[in-house]
Amino acid sequence: MKKWLKRLSPGFLAILFCLISIFALMTMLHMQGNARVINYTGIVRGATQQLVKQEMNSFPNDMLLAHLDGIVSELSTGEGENDLIVLPDKTYQALIQQMQQEWSELKVEIGRVREGQSSRQLYELSESYFDLANRAVSAAERYSEMCVTHSIGVLLCLNGGFIILFILLRVSESRQKKAKMALDLAENASRAKSEFLSRISHEIRTPMNGITGMTAIARRFVDDPEKMTDCLNKIDLSASYLLSLLNDVLDMSKIESGKIQLDEQPFDLTELLNRIQGMFWQKAEDGGVILSMRCEELSVPQVIGDNLRISQVLINLVSNAMKFTPPGGSVTLEARQTAADEKTVSLEFTVTDTGIGISEAFQQRIFDPFEQAQPATARQYGGTGLGLAISSSFVKLMGGTITVHSKPGEGTQFVVSLTLRRSFAGTAAGPQTGKDGTVCDLTGVRILLAEDNAINAEIATLLLEDVGARVDHAGNGKATVDLFSVSPAGTFSAILMDVQMPVMDGLKATLAIRALNHPDAGRIPIIGLSANAFQEDMKKAREHGMNAYLAKPLDPTRLYQTLEQVMIRE
Ligand code: ADP
Repeated sequence: MKKWLKRLSPGFLAILFCLISIFALMTMLHMQGNARVINYTGIVRGATQQLVKQEMNSFPNDMLLAHLDGIVSELSTGEGENDLIVLPDKTYQALIQQMQQEWSELKVEIGRVREGQSSRQLYELSESYFDLANRAVSAAERYSEMCVTHSIGVLLCLNGGFIILFILLRVSESRQKKAKMALDLAENASRAKSEFLSRISHEIRTPMNGITGMTAIARRFVDDPEKMTDCLNKIDLSASYLLSLLNDVLDMSKIESGKIQLDEQPFDLTELLNRIQGMFWQKAEDGGVILSMRCEELSVPQVIGDNLRISQVLINLVSNAMKFTPPGGSVTLEARQTAADEKTVSLEFTVTDTGIGISEAFQQRIFDPFEQAQPATARQYGGTGLGLAISSSFVKLMGGTITVHSKPGEGTQFVVSLTLRRSFAGTAAGPQTGKDGTVCDLTGVRILLAEDNAINAEIATLLLEDVGARVDHAGNGKATVDLFSVSPAGTFSAILMDVQMPVMDGLKATLAIRALNHPDAGRIPIIGLSANAFQEDMKKAREHGMNAYLAKPLDPTRLYQTLEQVMIRE
């Protein structure tokens, strides 16, 4: 059916239309011929009566006689001066033959009457001839009616077929159009993705070069602690950049597959803004940019919302503003309360800079993924063109809006409007709210580390041993369960459990430990470690009995803070 539909072309429909027209024309001509035959048969019927009447009253009419003679013969042979056709109907033909025969007899009788003989026989013959002509007219009419019915049927079928084919053609055309559009979309998406891949691989290569280059330099200066520290700092910088890049790509793929979920918790707005200013203070000073923050009329500092996502949006806006503002310029982050009722508070965050600005045309596409003002932007300023697409998706997910106002050469302003619920409780205590900069001391503490990757295990062990802890290492979930089950009560203060491991994964191992008949099975703190830092992963970890969850690569401060919060200390 589909193939057949595909072959259906407008040409085919045009041929069908011509056929219908030719058939209709032929039918009309045929009907015209039939009408003439009916008409002339009627003329023969009436005129014969007229002739007989005249002949009986001694008014011979040779002209009429000759005229009727010609018509009667033309009706059966189709040859004559009146353009008559031979009606292809057997009943009519039989009647015409009979009429022709009786017409000859009538002519003989007319001759006799003219010679002065009785007209009675002529009269009787004319009566029977009239009846015969009557039947012939009826037969011609019946035939003509049959032709009309037949033609209407055929025309209806042809027109119905034409309409059906026309509809099928339109359906197939619209399908083809849709398929073409889908193809175009897929091609565009794939083009954007491949452009993105080439951009991202360039972006990855830059910090990778930094890491490998600095590692090579560090190897040459193992005896020079100052040079070594400098190399390590640069490696750290490149690695953090690489990590943020990876997070952006992960966020974008989560957004595209609709898997982003908000984690709404009470948080302090002023604290969030201070944190952001704290993050950029040094950068602003290094770049000669004046960074200021204004916080107006915030009657409700405690709100409920996705603290992390809101920070991510504002950090991206401030980071862009700093990136695109040359030395001597200024960047301002402003938070304003625009409305508040008993339950909600509407906020407006504005990030204004005096940087290079954005053209009117690019402002239309600025929130689309992978878009950058110029191909040269990536070379000059770096970035992937994902930050604003991610930010605008988060803002939309939170039910807010994000807008841009800008003039090239003068500066840019991004405005984020959000309505958040008021919080009446204090800020929720999360692992990240611990005391910053606390020097952690884990002397005498024994920690069970479940990690299959040797380098990751070495990093975690070093970090823990650095603050005095003793580490027992297991290479998979099963080994961890075995080690824990034979340990005397109180041996371990916590378990660091990688989620993805061979033999038995971290989630299953946690379930197994919690189900053990061991005095510490229920209370031993288990901290999940995973590269998947999404909300649903953390939720899953909690559901499987983990007490906390840390994203890899491990951030030492957060590791120590989390351990301090959850650890059992006898
Ligand atoms: P990235 O910064 O990683 O390229 P973004 O999505 O954050 O990605 O930004 C996309 C583009 O928007 C940037 O490359 C830049 O061209 C433009 N842009 C964003 N913010 C500003 C700004 N404050 N001033 C000028 N241009 C900007």
